Amino acid sequence: MQITENILLLNGAGIDSNVYCIDNELLVDTGTGAFIEETLEQMNRFGVDKNNIKKIVLTHEHFDHIGAASEMKKKLGANLFVCEDAELNNGTSLSDLFDEDLDVPDVDGYFSEGDEINTSSYSFKVLHTPGHSPGSICLWDKQKGVLVSGDLIFRDGFGRVDIPGGDADKIKESLRRVKELGDINVLLPGHGTPASNKNIYDDGAIENILSEIE
Ligand SMILES: [Zn+2]
Ligand SMILES: [Zn+2]
Repeated sequence: MQITENILLLNGAGIDSNVYCIDNELLVDTGTGAFIEETLEQMNRFGVDKNNIKKIVLTHEHFDHIGAASEMKKKLGANLFVCEDAELNNGTSLSDLFDEDLDVPDVDGYFSEGDEINTSSYSFKVLHTPGHSPGSICLWDKQKGVLVSGDLIFRDGFGRVDIPGGDADKIKESLRRVKELGDINVLLPGHGTPASNKNIYDDGAIENILSEIE
């Protein structure tokens, strides 16, 4: 699905996370791996030049987002980046909950709060937003108002904290940060449908979500 001129949502089927392809050069999250061929097929259909994808960024350490990371990295010849607080292993990825075994990917670089990720039309800042997991990040392009939110915040709710690594106090703090960001024009969550400025503000989505935590 084409979200904006330069952002594709390669839909996660089943329990797979959403996979976003930004500017034909950056991939955010990878899904479990069960649908990796479908993801690559969708890229073909949208005319993505796979040789041009240089970076894969993982929003956090859970299996539904990183299961395919190792294979995807090999197939695309891309470098893999993750938050410095995200340990990637069977325990932290909660692969047991998914009844799977993680093919642990090699990480090429670690992000911390405030780092920048630039593509040809976006300039994202890394926000470290723990709570759903210790190594959760969001990517925020302030000028364009684009927030890639992983499992911190969805169109109609926020990420689970009743899981190993979850922390209710930290997610509250992280959600408050989202509120402070200002005008979000496009919310690109780790699951479900992206949201527009109208969905987020006029329809009261963000207020509803935040009212649940305050
Ligand atoms: Zn998820
Ligand atoms: Zn998650």
